[in-house]
Amino acid sequence: MQLIECPWCGPREEVDFSYGGQAHVPYPENSLDLSDEQWAHYVFFRDNTKGAFRERWMHSAGCRRWFNAVRDTTTYRFLAVYALDEKAPVIP
Ligand SMILES: [Zn+2]
Repeated sequence: MQLIECPWCGPREEVDFSYGGQAHVPYPENSLDLSDEQWAHYVFFRDNTKGAFRERWMHSAGCRRWFNAVRDTTTYRFLAVYALDEKAPVIP
């Protein structure tokens, strides 16, 4: 088990957190004009990146606040955490 750094509470056990999917998925500007296929693509389709991946997480058993993280999908290790209104850190 690993510790995840909550931006507000500090490091906590990973079982305290909930996964929220891919981060930085913009809501479509013209959502009323989208076809069903385009809408389904927005709702259900996400990147399946190997390596550093930007994700949303919530400290569900703690402060219940959302934040973003960069996690290596090959090792499951968290590389960075940052607030929702911050820019994603550059991970080499
Ligand atoms: Zn927290």
